[in-house]
Amino acid sequence: MRIANLQGRATLVSGSTGLDVEGASDGRFSADPAALWSDWAGFVAWASTVDVAGHADARPFEESDLLAPVPNPSQVFGIGLNYADHAAESSMEVPENPLVFTKFPSSLAGSDVTVRLTGDRVDWEAELVVVIGRGGRDIPVDEAWDSVAGFTVGQDISDRTVQSQGKPPQFSLGKSFQNYAPTGPAVVTIDELRSAGHDPEALRVRCEIVDEQGGEPRTLQDGTTADLIFPVVQLVARLSAIVELRPGDLIFTGTPAGVGLGRTPQVFLKPGQRLTTEIEGLGIIRQTFVA
Ligand code: ZN
Repeated sequence: MRIANLQGRATLVSGSTGLDVEGASDGRFSADPAALWSDWAGFVAWASTVDVAGHADARPFEESDLLAPVPNPSQVFGIGLNYADHAAESSMEVPENPLVFTKFPSSLAGSDVTVRLTGDRVDWEAELVVVIGRGGRDIPVDEAWDSVAGFTVGQDISDRTVQSQGKPPQFSLGKSFQNYAPTGPAVVTIDELRSAGHDPEALRVRCEIVDEQGGEPRTLQDGTTADLIFPVVQLVARLSAIVELRPGDLIFTGTPAGVGLGRTPQVFLKPGQRLTTEIEGLGIIRQTFVA
C-alpha cells in the first residue's frame, strides 16, 4: 500500500493513479493525512481491501501536487553518521550509540518543491525515512518491524555553516530551515515493498544533480541501506528505550557517502540546480534550489 498527501487529502496511490481516502471509505477515514495515524491499524485493514487502480473513483494525479505524506508528526528524529563510509568522509568516528538530532516538523515539505538556499554551504543527504505506525516505549528489536508503518524518501538538507557553528555545535537548527526536510512521494508499507520483490533491509539509495544550464545528471550518492550501522530495528529499539515513539513519527536514518562536505574540494548546492533522490521501491523526490 502507498499512502500519499495529495493537495492536503489522504490518498491511496497505485502508479500515477490516486484514490481519495475519505470518499472511498464513505467518510470512515478523514481526508486529513495527519488523522490516519490515530487508527493506523484500522486504516491498513480497510485499505488492504481496496483495489486502487480498479476503483471507479480513482483519478490520475501530478507528482508535483504531492505534499509531505506525514505533514505534522509529533517527532522527527535524524540520525547522524549511520553509514561507515559517510562517517569516514566526515572525519568522524563511527558512534557507539545512534547520534540523534531533530529536524523540526516545520521544515517538512513534499516531493517536488523549491528550496531557498540559506547560504553558500548547503549540502544534500539522501536518506531512507522510517514512518512509525504503532508507537510505544521499550520496543524490543524482535518486535520493531511491527512498529513500522512503512518508509518514504527523504532529503536531510543541511546548512553546514549553521550546523557547525558554536562549541559544541548543534545539528538541529541548520537542518530545519524552510523546506529542508522534503519527503515523499508516499509512505510505502513494508509488505508492499516485499511483495514487489524488494528487501526492506537492503534498498538502494541514490541522488543526482542537474546544473542550472542543464546537461547530464551527475550521481552524488549511491548506497544501500544494508550498510546502515544501526539498522531500522535497532533505531526503533534504541530510540524507544528513551522516548515514547508515536504513530506518524519519522526517523531520518542517515546518509551514505557522497555529501558535498566530504569532497575535495568541497561542493555545495547552487541556485538553479535540481536534485533528485531515489530509493528502490519507494520512488523519487525532487528539489529545485533558488538563492
Ligand atoms: Zn542526515
